[in-house]
Amino acid sequence: MTKTSIALGRIQPSQTTAMTDRAIALRAAGRDIISLSVGEPDFATPPHVVAAAKAALDAGDTKYTAVGGTARLKAAAALHFSRDLGIVVPTSQVTVSAGGKQAIFHALLATLDPGDEVLIPSPWWVSYPEIVRFAGATVVPIETTASGGFRIAAEQLAAGITPNTRWLLLNSPGNPTGATYSAEDLRVLGEVLRLHPRVLVMSDDIYAPLRYSPGGHATLAVECPDLADRVLTISGVSKSHAMTGFRIGVAAGPAWLIAAMETLQSHSSGNPASISQAAAVAAFEGPQDFLLDWRERFRARRDMVVSAINAIPGLSTPVPDGAFYCMVDAVPLMDRFGDDAALALHLLDYGVAIVPASAFGGRDGFRISFAADEAKLEEAVRRIAAAVAA
Ligand code: GLU
Repeated sequence: MTKTSIALGRIQPSQTTAMTDRAIALRAAGRDIISLSVGEPDFATPPHVVAAAKAALDAGDTKYTAVGGTARLKAAAALHFSRDLGIVVPTSQVTVSAGGKQAIFHALLATLDPGDEVLIPSPWWVSYPEIVRFAGATVVPIETTASGGFRIAAEQLAAGITPNTRWLLLNSPGNPTGATYSAEDLRVLGEVLRLHPRVLVMSDDIYAPLRYSPGGHATLAVECPDLADRVLTISGVSKSHAMTGFRIGVAAGPAWLIAAMETLQSHSSGNPASISQAAAVAAFEGPQDFLLDWRERFRARRDMVVSAINAIPGLSTPVPDGAFYCMVDAVPLMDRFGDDAALALHLLDYGVAIVPASAFGGRDGFRISFAADEAKLEEAVRRIAAAVAA
């Protein structure tokens, strides 16, 4: 009676969301927990976005919309892709889903069969390999290192591709490492991809506004325009505009793939929430200048967290160039704790929730999200130092 599907048996619950749920439950039970587990900006959603959501409610925009999003939002998303990422696409090549996660889920489910292989640079975002396994395909990790900026090299890509390779998943700026690929890095990877026309590329650009070094964001569909007909670019408003709860993600890619994703979406959720869509229009069409201020706030937090962590004996972290995560190395502490899951529980005892590196296909470390306010971050690193010293 309680038997679940074979496909479900291939996957684990999301450890980022599990840790966050746990922190929420502990807090509800009266514990003082600072959660640096989930990647969620602490800034309030901008007032003009909230006003657009309220106006949509008042206008009675509370009914079904087209499955892949309203014409208005598709146009606003196309504007975002061209203005912010340099990807010029007609609205027929854009779709909207309930968060970037759902777009990724549908794209992979719509294209993968058992026997297909998916190349994923590791450490990876938790949901990538789980979705691939759910689809019945095989995860092929490409290991990256802190000293290599957590980026894959062209030789690693070339060595990983087989006749069964269906996708390469790229995430720049990356979660959980902050890895960022320059235009030149992408052009070099493009030379390898050009030799393998069956391989699709997912470019998950959800953290594009959060690139800290000069030079700006680079993306594969722009750097290698001849490959654009097999690149699916993921973006959204969750991370950029502090709208995680609205659940709106957008994707741009070849028309056949967008249509396939919408076919699946027509049977999973149907349209993304109508109110959230109205809010996302305001996010894409409204002012963007505050994003630069937010980025500078994140940069200051990053610098504070990186130097505080590096001052704790047994912990070290490189300076991430993008997104809002630090991947902390705790190898010297493993003799004491055994593994990073045990270390995570120990830190929780000291009132800080983080996510162990093993959740991301890494090991012996943990991810900190620094998308929390300055006072919380300072207290959290004090608690981490106390926990490690104890
Ligand atoms: N992407 C964010 C994170 O990695 C949100 C949680 C999730 O969907 O994994 O923390």
